[in-house]
Amino acid sequence: MPIFEFECKDCSNKFEELTKVQEKICCPQCKSCNLRKLISAFSTNSNDSKCNWGDPSLPNKQEFERIRSKDSE
Ligand SMILES: [Zn+2]
Repeated sequence: MPIFEFECKDCSNKFEELTKVQEKICCPQCKSCNLRKLISAFSTNSNDSKCNWGDPSLPNKQEFERIRSKDSE
């Protein structure tokens, strides 16, 4: 799914928008539709695991709190 980056000409806010349907995109900050489309650097490379937040090897929050409370004793 293509993601495009836009810059608002009115408030210079930069944001990304999924363009799934041909709808008019407006700035989420100031609601202006005076936008400039930026070249998207977004890649759909599925090998990029840097955004894998569900990594089971990382301690979950409860475990983290337990370790931390043990340290403070
Ligand atoms: Zn704006």
